[in-house]
Amino acid sequence: MEGLEKGLEELRQTFGSGKTRDAAWRKSQLRGLLRLLNEEEEEIFRVLHEDLGKHRVEAYRDEVGVLKKSVNFALENLDGWMAAKKVKLPWLVWPSKGEVVAEPLGLVLLFSSWNFPIGLTLECLIGAISAGNVVVLKPSEQSPASSLFLANCIPMYIDSKAVKIYEGGSSVAEKLLEYKWDKIFFTGSARVGRIVMTAAAKHLTPVTLELGGKCPGIVDSCLSLHDKKVTAQRIVAGKWGTCCGQACVGIDYLLVEEKYASEMVDLLIRKIKQFFAKNHLSRIVNKQHFHRLSNLFNDPAVAASIVHGGSRNIKDLVIEPTIMLNPPLDAEIMTEEIFGPLLPIITLNKIEDSIEFLRSRPKPLAIYAFTNDEKFQRRIVAETSSGNITFNDAVIQYALDALPFGGVGGSGFGKYHGKYSFDTFSNDKAVLRRGFLVEISFRYPPWDDLKLQF
Ligand code: NAD
Repeated sequence: MEGLEKGLEELRQTFGSGKTRDAAWRKSQLRGLLRLLNEEEEEIFRVLHEDLGKHRVEAYRDEVGVLKKSVNFALENLDGWMAAKKVKLPWLVWPSKGEVVAEPLGLVLLFSSWNFPIGLTLECLIGAISAGNVVVLKPSEQSPASSLFLANCIPMYIDSKAVKIYEGGSSVAEKLLEYKWDKIFFTGSARVGRIVMTAAAKHLTPVTLELGGKCPGIVDSCLSLHDKKVTAQRIVAGKWGTCCGQACVGIDYLLVEEKYASEMVDLLIRKIKQFFAKNHLSRIVNKQHFHRLSNLFNDPAVAASIVHGGSRNIKDLVIEPTIMLNPPLDAEIMTEEIFGPLLPIITLNKIEDSIEFLRSRPKPLAIYAFTNDEKFQRRIVAETSSGNITFNDAVIQYALDALPFGGVGGSGFGKYHGKYSFDTFSNDKAVLRRGFLVEISFRYPPWDDLKLQF
């Protein structure tokens, strides 16, 4: 935090100089990020392994690879995003021209989380730079190797007069929140999201909150055996194969029909054994989260519902992929976001009952539904609310630039990825250009009822 005031002043001067508005500058920064991802790939794999035990292939799939794709997408589309968008105006204002011009917001503050500590930090940075802003990044203190890597490396590849990193935990975050920002983009918990929003309100700073929640998976028993096997594969990959369940878009729990539950459990166990025979699971981030997850087992009714797994090793911060069948709905495991390798399965009489189940709970970041029944699919889209819905897959929607990513209600608000990131960090300025030629007397006093007949 040393020199924070000076650093912020330098950022404001950089923004004031206008250089970040230039498309060439923005592209050069994006190319710098791409070079960082290419040249520092091994180091990124190392820090992600140190922080989370992530395998390098998982690290590439979820962080490095997704980021390279996002930077390339931004580079390909930036000119189009920056171009003024002409709009059609009514004859009433003829002769006129109207357009929407995206202008950068200014000085933006980005907070990120520890579960994808490189991916989440740089994904929003791509948007902030593309839109021509100057940036302060505050990575999570819970992934210290990644945080240090970013602090050391970003200045080597990105203009350090325009992007600065401040490492640290809540005291650093709270200090940063005292300042006036033009935008705060926060990824993390609802608890801290409230703190961020309260601080932002003081300065009327707009915020985007990327929060979490309990993302349900609905599995229809009418699937063919082939589709059921693919479903199990995608659920296991989306749950345990993605930072060991420590993902905001990870499946939190499953809803299945009672008659199908034991077959579903068998298919999941078979896939878990196949996928993780070589122990390629990320680990729990730290002792605090290990204890938080362990406490979920302490409820005897929850412990009694375990049908697979359950073993834990605090020394290595490992929790075995664990499946529970029908834990009590009022137990913490069903009321709080799990964010770890535990998967409760809740049985229903009819799969259609899942809609009512979801409607009675907070709006999740994502809903996953494995079904080929188009009528049921339409009902889920129309009758439930969530940041996103994916049919017949899990988590992959995060990597698609064409789809907006973000929550609704308790899972946050504001969208990013692809063009949505550019928009999140821009002000859509309306520009109207009038001519002097035509005057319509209706708009001018003195008022006269005859004017209403105009
Ligand atoms: P967190 O809220 O504890 O921390 C997030 C960030 O806030 C960190 O950078 C942290 O240092 C900072 N912070 C901590 N205390 C603060 C304070 N008092 N004031 C301001 N900032 C403070 O969350 P976490 O443990 O890093 O992440 C877990 C949560 O994040 C889960 O709920 C998960 O679902 C959610 N998440 C959401 C997304 C998404 O894209 N929607 C992605 C990852 C994680």
